[in-house]
Amino acid sequence: MVHVTRIVIIGGGPGGYEAALVAAQLGAEVTVVDRDGLGGSAVLTDCVPSKTLIATAEVMTTFDTSYEELGITVAQDEGADAAKVIGVDLGKVNRRVKRLAIAQSHDITQSVTRSGVTVLRGRGRLGSGGQAVDGSREVLVDAPDGTVQSLRADAVLIATGAHPRVVPDAQPDGERILTWTQVYDLEELPRELIVVGSGVTGAEFAGAYQALGSKVTLVSSRDRVLPGEDPDAAEVLEDVFRRRGMNVMSRTRAEGAKRVGDEVEVTLSNGQVVTGTHCLMAVGSIPNTAEMGLEEAGVKLNDWGQIQVDRVSRTSAPGVYAAGDCTGVFMLASVAAMQGRIAMYHALGDAVQPLNLKTVASNVFTDPEIATVGYTAADVECGKMDAVVVKLPLRGNPRAKMQGIRDGFVKLFCRPGTGIVVGGVVVAPRASELIHPIALAVDANLTVEQVASAFTVYPSVSGSTAEAARQLHIRKRADGES
Ligand SMILES: Cc1cc2nc3c(=O)[nH]c(=O)nc-3n(C[C@H](O)[C@H](O)[C@H](O)COP(=O)(O)OP(=O)(O)OC[C@H]3O[C@@H](n4cnc5c(N)ncnc54)[C@H](O)[C@@H]3O)c2cc1C
Repeated sequence: MVHVTRIVIIGGGPGGYEAALVAAQLGAEVTVVDRDGLGGSAVLTDCVPSKTLIATAEVMTTFDTSYEELGITVAQDEGADAAKVIGVDLGKVNRRVKRLAIAQSHDITQSVTRSGVTVLRGRGRLGSGGQAVDGSREVLVDAPDGTVQSLRADAVLIATGAHPRVVPDAQPDGERILTWTQVYDLEELPRELIVVGSGVTGAEFAGAYQALGSKVTLVSSRDRVLPGEDPDAAEVLEDVFRRRGMNVMSRTRAEGAKRVGDEVEVTLSNGQVVTGTHCLMAVGSIPNTAEMGLEEAGVKLNDWGQIQVDRVSRTSAPGVYAAGDCTGVFMLASVAAMQGRIAMYHALGDAVQPLNLKTVASNVFTDPEIATVGYTAADVECGKMDAVVVKLPLRGNPRAKMQGIRDGFVKLFCRPGTGIVVGGVVVAPRASELIHPIALAVDANLTVEQVASAFTVYPSVSGSTAEAARQLHIRKRADGES
C-alpha cells in the first residue's frame, strides 16, 4: 500500500495556502483550517487592501505634484489646489478595496481546492496528546457551529499570522480610533488624521491619506520616520512628507487616545495633546499563537509569543512546522510563502534550500517608494559586511528629469575585492519594480562589472542602477591601485 503523508495547515494566509499548493503537488493529503478566509490577513485586511488604497493615492500624488510642471491645466482651476479639484470619494475607493480583496480570496480558494486540498472553516489548535506512537499529531478544529473535529496529521504547519497591537489606553472603536484593519469601513475621508507609529505601516497610511486629501499628523517615537529602513531613504521620505504639509512629530510616544464628541484626543509622552477627527494606531502586531496548545505540545515561543523556527521552518516540536508572521522572522507575504513552501519540501522529503533573508526584496509603498535588498547601510556601519557604497541621486537621471521626479536615489553596495553586489536601495516612484535587477544580482552573486555591462533602455530610471555599478567599478579599481 502506498503511504500518503497527511498534512494539516492551520491558517490560510500566504504562509499556509502556498504551502498547501506545494504539498498537494508533492502528493500529500492536505487540509487547511482557516478562521477568516483563504488569503489570510494579507489578502483580506493588510497587504492587498492597503496597496489598493495606495493605488488611488498614487494617482492623486502624481497629478498633484506634477501637473503644473508638465503643462497640464485644470478647467475652472482659479488657484484651487489640484487635490481639491480632482477629489476622492473614499466610500467608493473602499468598496473597490473590499471587492478586490474578496475576489482575490475567492480565486485563492478555487485554486487551492482545485489542487485537491480540503479547506475547513474554523479555529485550529494542537490536541493535548502530543505525538502518537506512529509519530502523528492531533489537530482540533472548532467549527463556527460549535462542533469540534479531530484530525490526524503526519506533519502540522502553523501559519496563523498576527493581529494589530492595541495600546490599553487607545481602544479602537472602529469609527474614530482605528486599527489598519478597520479603515476600509470609512465612508468619508478623515479631515484630520493622526497616525500613531512611523514604521512601514504608519508611513504608508500617513502618506496615502495625505495624498487623498486628509490633513495628517504622524507621531513617531524615534528620531526619524521608518527607523528600520536605510537612513538616507528615510530622510528623503520625511523631507517629502514635511514639504507636502504633513505634521511629523518625532521622539514622542502616544500614551493614549480618546474620543471626545466627533474628535479624537491623543495624549503624547511629552505631555502634549494632539487633536484630530480620526486616529489610526499602527504600533506593531501580536502573533496569533495564544490558546493553540503550542507550549503544551513542546513548541517554543519567544518573549513576544512568536514561534521559534530554524531555516527550514521546523519548530522545537517534532512534526510541527511554522511559517509567516506568527514566527516574526521577516513580516512579509513573500517570506511567509517561502517559509511555508520550505516547510513542505522538508516535511515531504523533497530537496530544500534553507531560507536566506539576505536575498529578500522588500518595499515601502510610499511616494516615493523605498525598495531594499541584501545587506544594508547598518550592516556596513557595524562591520557585519565590508562593502563599497555608491549613491546616485535621481536628480541627475534624464528620465527622472523628463518626468519631473526630484526626490530619490539608487544606492548599491559591493564587496571591495570581488565587486560582487551584496545589496541595494532604490528610492523612486515604482521602486518596487526597479529593485528586481539588483535583487537578481544579489541572488546570483553578480559583479558590478556584470551589472554595468547589461544594456538599459535610454532614457530610463534603471539607467541609474547601471551608472551606480559603473561608478563602483571605477571606485574599486582606484582602491586597488592605491
Ligand atoms: C497594513 C499592512 C500592509 C502590508 N503590506 C505588505 C506588502 O505590501 N507586501 C508584503 O509582502 N507584506 C505586507 N504586509 C505583511 C503581510 O501582510 C504579512 O507578512 C502576511 O500577511 C503574513 O502571512 P501569514 O500567512 O503569516 O499570515 P496571515 O496573512 O495573517 O494569515 C493568517 C491566517 O490564519 C488565520 N488564523 C489565525 N489563527 C487561526 C487559528 N487558530 N485557526 C485557523 N486559522 C487561524 C487568520 O484568520 C488568517 O486567515 C503588510 C502588513 C500590514 C499590516
